[in-house]
This record gives sequence, structure tokens and C-alpha cells, in this order.
Amino acid sequence: MNLSYTPATICAIATAPGRGGVGVIRVSGKDLLPFAQAISQGKTPKPRYAMYTDFFDSHGQAIDNGLLLFFPGPNSFTGEDVIELQGHGGPVVMKMLLARCVELGARLAEPGEFTKRAFLNDKLDLAQAESVADLIDASSETAARSALKSLKGAFSRQVHGLVDELINLRMLVEATLDFPEEEIDFLKQADAIGRLRRLRATLVGVQATAKQGAILREGMHVVMVGQPNVGKSSLMNALAGDDVAIVTDIAGTTRDTVREEIVIDGVPVHVIDTAGLRETDDVVEKIGIERTWQAVERADLALVLTDSRHGLTDEVQAILARIPAGLPRVHVFNKVDLTADAPGIADEEGHPLVRLSAKTHQGVDLLKAKLLEMIGFSGADEGVFLARQRHLDAIARAADHLELAEADWEQVEIFAEELRLAQNALSEITGEFSADDLLGVIFSRFCIGK
Ligand code: GDP
Ligand code: ZN
Repeated sequence: MNLSYTPATICAIATAPGRGGVGVIRVSGKDLLPFAQAISQGKTPKPRYAMYTDFFDSHGQAIDNGLLLFFPGPNSFTGEDVIELQGHGGPVVMKMLLARCVELGARLAEPGEFTKRAFLNDKLDLAQAESVADLIDASSETAARSALKSLKGAFSRQVHGLVDELINLRMLVEATLDFPEEEIDFLKQADAIGRLRRLRATLVGVQATAKQGAILREGMHVVMVGQPNVGKSSLMNALAGDDVAIVTDIAGTTRDTVREEIVIDGVPVHVIDTAGLRETDDVVEKIGIERTWQAVERADLALVLTDSRHGLTDEVQAILARIPAGLPRVHVFNKVDLTADAPGIADEEGHPLVRLSAKTHQGVDLLKAKLLEMIGFSGADEGVFLARQRHLDAIARAADHLELAEADWEQVEIFAEELRLAQNALSEITGEFSADDLLGVIFSRFCIGK
């Protein structure tokens, strides 16, 4: 997919806003050497070497000094010429430098535009492009590592492997369509169904890995119900354990903390504390509370925390009554160390009940394991790559088509069509769904003269 027009030169501050030791401006476009020369007053950068220089404005006055890097296309992130200006990371300096870039003909880049160009210039496929954003947004180390795997193509390679197999099978099936008399025999002989079954089995494996990857990306959304002092903060800390992202209280519009983020075994856990959901006349607070209730609607499960000595109080029952009935629940009886009960897990009226002590950590592992089990997380091993819901949807559609293909394989037209649809679904993941691909492959595998 090559751009058939000359794209505008784009520029943006690539580093986070605010003050920092270094600030980076990235520029991408066609033929940027004159740009580099203009901003450095005539110096010619050696490709991929750091050039120490002043950055000049149009009057020949230095705005800043730092490093200029020049990556001529196509060997650059976007596939175009890319220039990086590494200056001092102050907001004013960065703004002046950016203004200078605009003066030199660049326009401000849209969000994701560099990555989009990388995709359009075939530097990255769609799944990889998405993982650039996921890596930056990752909220746990495990998620970040898995995002990097996707970025480096681990997921795409698996999809490509499946698509290649599908193409081979399709060539076989479509070839038989020309011989209506013997097509069934032909397919049997070529073990088309065996190949289809193996493909389906591989797809199931990819689906399972992608699901773990999607959980790592989305995390788990938990509603925490419990009165003050039952030990909510203590439990959050106990759950987070040694993970880097220990409880960070994100102040909501209410004075109470309404959201917290922790990480359990690499899975980001977003906790909404219903203690912040109180009756109020304050308009702003009301909006915040409304939003929180909307988040409750989207939660994966409710964690109902009580003091073992008091059990479910009326106040807790009242909040529980407002939580969606179908929402899976885990009851936690905390402070078991203050009672004669032993820590443990039981099943009570269809939901798990965990007795634990957030203080001594007894029983906390039982809860952790239960929570991970409830969202279907079985651990991020080396192979897990980050995935998105979009990918899961595409994989599920491909799986459906393959199932139909197997069910109807004796109707060869349908068999062929379902295989085609399965391939399209998978190709959506990497963004290269196009009929030309298939034709190209088919013809390239014919021998000369045919
Ligand atoms: P929150 O208001 O629900 O967030 O409760 P905190 O986590 O702040 O805990 C309230 C008090 O209960 C603190 O003094 C904690 O040390 C204590 N606490 C929390 N969990 C336990 C526990 O399992 N056992 C005991 N003995 N005390 C606990
Ligand atoms: Zn608290």
C-alpha cells in the first residue's frame, strides 16, 4: 500500500508535556534534508548519527541547542524522511521549536498520525500499529511486555501463519471446483478436512492466547462495596503485594476516593469504591457519582467487603441492592484474625465467600486466585501478546466460518466461501484484507506456461 500523493510534512512534540531534561520534536515528510539544513543553518546531518547543533529561527537567532537526528526514508519509523530534534524539555522552548517547524512548512500532526503513516507505508501492520498505543498505555509491566511482543510482530506472525494455511487450503478447494464430478474424492484424497481441523485447532490456541492478552490490556473492573473501616485500603495493598503499581488514590470529584488502580499478577485491576457513592446536593459531585454508577454497570464483578465480626450490615445491603443483579460477586469477610474463624474460601448462595485478613495477609492469595479465575485469566506466560477486543471479535468470526466450513465441506461451493470469509476475518487483524493478495499468491504458485 503506497501513498500515491505527497503527504504533508507533519510535526509534533513527542515527549510528554511539562518540564523534562530533554524534549523531542519529531518531523516526518518527504525530502526533509533542506528542512534539517534550514533549522541548523546549513549543516548537513549524516543519516542516523546524532548531530550536535543550534536550532535557529528565521532571523538566524538560536532558539535552543541539542541533537538533530536524520532518518532518511524508507529506513525510518514512518517510512518517510524523519527528523528528530532533541532540545531542552521546557514547554516554552518546545513551543518555539515547534512553531519554527511549522514555519518551515510542517503542519501539526494528528494523534497517531506518525504510526498511521508507518502503517500506510507498510512499516507496521494494523495489529502492530495498535500495539504502539497499547505499549504506551500499558498499566502493568506484564501488559507492557506483552504489548512489545505484539509490536515486534508475535501476534501478526501467528495470524499470518493461519492465513497462509488458509490460502493453501483455499487453493486446493477452488481448484476442485473445476472438476465437479470428482471434487469430493479429490478433497478426501488431499486430506482437506484433516488440514481444516488442524487449522481450527491452531486457531483455538491463538484465540486462547489473544484472550489472555486482551485481559492484560483491558484489566479487570471491580466494584468495591464496603463501609468505612472494614479494610478496603488495606485489602487493596494486600492484593497489590509486591507489584510496582501499588494503590494510587485517584481523586474523583467527590472528596472520597472513588477509583483505585492496582495490579494482580500483572493484570491491571480498576477498582471503584462505592464509599464515594453517597447522596449529595452538590451538582458537580452528582455528575461524578453518576459517572461512577455508569462504570458500575460495566464492571466485571463486585467485591463485597465486610468486617467478619459484623457480617453484612444494612448499609451494605442497601448498596448491594443498587448493583446490577447479574453482576458476579465475591464476598470478603475481612479481619478474620480478630475472630475464631479460620481463613478460607467457600461457596455461598452461588458466589464465593472468602475469609481473610488484609492485615496478616492470611487468605489473600485465595482471593487473588479467585478473582483471576473469575475473569478467565490463567497467567501470562512468555508467549502472551497483547490483544484487543477487535482482534477477539475477528478471531471468533474466523472460528465460526471455519466451523461452518467443516460442517458443510461436501458442498464445495459453501466450503470455499466459508474459507474465504474466515481468511477475510483474520486479515482484518493485520489490516491487509484484500482480494489481490489471494490472487497474487495463487498465480505466483502456478508454474510457467499454465
Ligand atoms: P477502609 O476505610 O475500608 O479503607 O479501611 P482501612 O483499610 O483504612 O482499615 C481500617 C482499619 O482496620 C485500619 O486500622 C486497619 O489497620 C484495620 N484493618 C484492616 N484490615 C484488617 C484486618 O484484616 N485485621 C485487623 N486486625 N485489622 C485490619
Ligand atoms: Zn480506604
